Amino acid sequence: MIELNINSPIEEIRNPLFINKGIKVFVKRDDMIHPFISGNKWRKLKYLLRDAFKLNKNHLVTFGGAYSNHLLATACAGAKFGFQTTGFVRGEEVKNETLTLCRLFGMQLIFIDRESYKHKKTLFDQHFQDHPQAYFIDEGGAGVLAIKGCAELINELPEVYDHIFCAAGTGTTASGIIKGIIEGSIPTLTHVIPILKGADFLKTEIEENSGSNTFEFHAGYHFGGYAKTDEELLTFIKNFCSTCGILIEPVYTGKMFFSLFDLISKDHFNRGCKILAIHTGGLSGISGMINKFNY
Ligand SMILES: *Cc1c(COP(=O)(O)O)cnc(C)c1O
Repeated sequence: MIELNINSPIEEIRNPLFINKGIKVFVKRDDMIHPFISGNKWRKLKYLLRDAFKLNKNHLVTFGGAYSNHLLATACAGAKFGFQTTGFVRGEEVKNETLTLCRLFGMQLIFIDRESYKHKKTLFDQHFQDHPQAYFIDEGGAGVLAIKGCAELINELPEVYDHIFCAAGTGTTASGIIKGIIEGSIPTLTHVIPILKGADFLKTEIEENSGSNTFEFHAGYHFGGYAKTDEELLTFIKNFCSTCGILIEPVYTGKMFFSLFDLISKDHFNRGCKILAIHTGGLSGISGMINKFNY
């Protein structure tokens, strides 16, 4: 059976700001699901892997950038559940920890120039036309099955929160969460934090994929774009880690928590409300970022 024993507890974090504003903040520790099939990546892969298994496929083929948490999660999950794996990596050949880990988990890597990379189905067809047992997984695992897996997060919640915060790359995780909230008729408002610059298209995509436009989309926290940071964000991350004892990173969760603190300080929420932030993981890449912190 393709299953992970999900260990994703919820813990409250405390801060003078929250006390001052009369707000309670909790974190769902999806980063604790697995060290490499981390956070939302397991939720996104679960039904894709089961689909592949059902169709008698034995080879997962997927796509990502050189620091992709999705590539790493697919490599590890493939090894664990008995699939071969191939990852198409965007851009010229590089070496880094994420890709080394992918290879350790047996993934074959194919580096692809940025133009060809855009045509993923074509790449898959070209390389795997003689491999009927190859299974295509879109970049980031995006798609209906991934949304279904992410929606399950909502069933795990022990109480109702007024607000949920979630970082967005492709927006699949956010779509799933919003869908789960609607299906459960739960009075929770979702806040989506895109970590890309110019991600307005994502708002429409999330509306289409979740079937709802009742979420807040906070587009002002990308800090210049994907994996871009500045002193303010890095200082915030250092403060957060050293006062909460929970590790966050600059690409996704750092920006999401920054927005949460910022909106609370700007009185975006009513006194007495409860907020749940989803820690979507992504910590395996942090050792590749140690230079950013300038210690
Ligand atoms: C991949 C990833 C995301 C983005 O998830 P989407 O479903 O693509 O929006 C968020 N946080 C972390 C840590 C990730 O690795």
